[in-house]
Amino acid sequence: MISNARILVVDDDAGARRLARATLSRAGFSIVEAADGQAALEAMAVQLPDLVLMDVNMPRMDGFEACAALRAMPGGNRVPVAMMTGLDDTPSIDRAFEVGATDFITKPINWSVLPHRVRYMLRASIAINELQQNQRRLSNAQRIGEMGDWEWDVGSDRLEPSMQAWRLFGHPGDAAHTGLPGFFATVHADDAERLQRACERAVEQGEGFAIDHRVLTWDGAVRHLHQQVEVIERIPGGPARRLAGAVHDVTRSKDAEEQIRRLAYFDPLTGLPNRLLFTEQLARALAQAERHGRRIAIMFVDLDNFKRVNDTLGHKAGDELLKTASARLAGALRGHDVVARSGDTRPAPLDLRPAPLDLGQPAGGHTLARLGGDEFIVLLTDVARPEDAGAVAQRLVAQMSEPVSVMGTEVFVGASVGVATYPDDGADIDTLLMNADTAMYRAKAAGRGGFQLYDRSMNARALDRLRMETRLRRAIERQEFVLHYQPRVDVVSGRIVGAEALIRWQHPERGIVPPGEFIPLVEDAGLEITVGEWVIAETCRQIAAWRAAGLKPVPVAVNLASTHLRERGLPLLVAHALREHEVEAPMLEIEVTESILLAEPELSCTIATQLADMGVQLSIDDFGTGYSSLGYLKRLPIAALKIDRSFVRDLVNDPDDEAIVSAIIALAHSLKLKVVAEGVETREQLAFLQSQRCDEYQGFLTSRAVAPDEFAELLSRDLLPLVRLVA
Ligand code: C2E
Ligand code: CA
Ligand code: CA
Repeated sequence: MISNARILVVDDDAGARRLARATLSRAGFSIVEAADGQAALEAMAVQLPDLVLMDVNMPRMDGFEACAALRAMPGGNRVPVAMMTGLDDTPSIDRAFEVGATDFITKPINWSVLPHRVRYMLRASIAINELQQNQRRLSNAQRIGEMGDWEWDVGSDRLEPSMQAWRLFGHPGDAAHTGLPGFFATVHADDAERLQRACERAVEQGEGFAIDHRVLTWDGAVRHLHQQVEVIERIPGGPARRLAGAVHDVTRSKDAEEQIRRLAYFDPLTGLPNRLLFTEQLARALAQAERHGRRIAIMFVDLDNFKRVNDTLGHKAGDELLKTASARLAGALRGHDVVARSGDTRPAPLDLRPAPLDLGQPAGGHTLARLGGDEFIVLLTDVARPEDAGAVAQRLVAQMSEPVSVMGTEVFVGASVGVATYPDDGADIDTLLMNADTAMYRAKAAGRGGFQLYDRSMNARALDRLRMETRLRRAIERQEFVLHYQPRVDVVSGRIVGAEALIRWQHPERGIVPPGEFIPLVEDAGLEITVGEWVIAETCRQIAAWRAAGLKPVPVAVNLASTHLRERGLPLLVAHALREHEVEAPMLEIEVTESILLAEPELSCTIATQLADMGVQLSIDDFGTGYSSLGYLKRLPIAALKIDRSFVRDLVNDPDDEAIVSAIIALAHSLKLKVVAEGVETREQLAFLQSQRCDEYQGFLTSRAVAPDEFAELLSRDLLPLVRLVA
């Protein structure tokens, strides 16, 4: 590169040009000549020399002017220019440097050393160019990599930052050489002391460190920096003399990290802490309460009517409701200061930046979290007495009893709150959560829209029952019940002539729960009417659905609690359900046990008569097991007796049962009632029933109670022979 470099010799003296060419070309350089400044600029543009030897005094354009113009050309500042001036011509030498000359060579020229000077200048120029290029590369790399570096001289407190380091630290303008305090002036107040101490330690012990900290940039943004600091010079065995730091902008990865933590710890819909974060905070709060002998309270908040809103107005409305509810709960928790500030209607300035994540202590002594669904939970960290928590709970309930506007519709939601306190009601997270949950169930059971403090005096069984009851209420709200259908078969033809709707609970955790396990609880909780109403409506809907699917449905019997037969509204409700689904009255049948006669038999008779007049048939279920008052039975408008399966089970083996079954059949027929045998599992049992002229039967022999789809299949299969007959 140096040996065959191209030299532009600019001189109006042709003899001097010739001598220059002769000496320099012998040294391996290639030569371009120009007779004046103007010609030099033209040659510059075309030939791109590696070095220029420029005479000062020339016609047309002198050397100074030519040098200045050359420097202004693109890339013109990279080429070294040596001005040839007269010896001792100090003004010319000064002028030469002013216009950007790299060096000067005095005339008369010592031709023998000229090649060496040229070589030297070329080497320096290359070194400078490389340095500049390296610096440019480094700077670009730093900019692209969002990195920067600095060096600090400890003794003089002179800090030299790279441009990029200067910018990363959030300083405006170009990098300035400052002291360490000036450079670190933008460090976030909360991080400044930590960084300061780290630097001091590095100086004292002569050891580097790495640190993450924030800076506040001149335009107000927060930036996260990672700094790797090294000691690059130290007094042997003594303190550091020079430190060097590499700075890296980690804001983006910090943001991503925060985003991930946010996802893990916060409920995206309401922005509230989720169960995970809540339990972490609760654990910390418990540890602190224990250390300082303080009381904390946790409150379960369950919205009373959420499911209904969600089902009738849709998921969007449900989401909106949850957001409104969480805002209200938060407002009620802020309590007094919110009341005081509520006159101020100016909206707060919108801050779009994510708030810094604080996963530590709950702010202001309370945390509100969403556990999922319509369940919220509150942690109060400093509670003097359990009653004080009660007062807060009261406020939450009051807030939620106000109507909420959801997608333009006013709805009443209401909330039930259960409170448990530490150390009164438990010492660990699980116990506290469970007891607050229990108290909440109790609040619900006592009628919605209230709160309840946990009460130790409740025994475990009562609590279990209470929980079960609340779950049942919820199951109704959430429509977790389904009906299965068992065919009723004509004993002679073997054809399906009816069905019985049997309820099942599709429990979210336990799966299908049979009615024997929850119907008694439904009745204890006084929910049998609600459940019965649902069964009636659902059965009518199902009959209509089968019909719409092209099937020919059979009459379906529903089981009603005997108390339901004392509901004066029952006939109207049945009529409504039939009408709504355009189902004829004879398609719906009702089964009740003899126990309807135990209380207010007159009323039950009246209602049964109204139903019968409408065309809805009534059967007596489990006949033979209870108190059979034939006198009343005669007065009831019933169409059928169902022989309890306990008698059917031992038919064939037990002569007594055979006798009872025969007697029931005979009795029923004498009263002009149809007889249905339940629980028929074998051909022998069926044969006996046939021999006794029993009318119909149900049982595993034909089919268990099955889901609607499966029942539809049974129906369509049963119709096939009919179709063939017609064809
Ligand atoms: P149930 O009214 O006597 O219903 C007949 C029960 O016997 C059903 O039990 C049925 O699955 C079962 N079963 C039918 N065939 C056979 C058989 O061949 N062998 C045996 N071992 N069992 C058979 P499930 O469905 O468990 O119902 C139990 C009881 O729950 C019903 O007795 C009824 O009293 C009550 N129940 C069911 N659905 C409802 C409802 O919607 N409302 C009310 N209030 N009670 C219901
Ligand atoms: Ca039944
Ligand atoms: Ca029965």
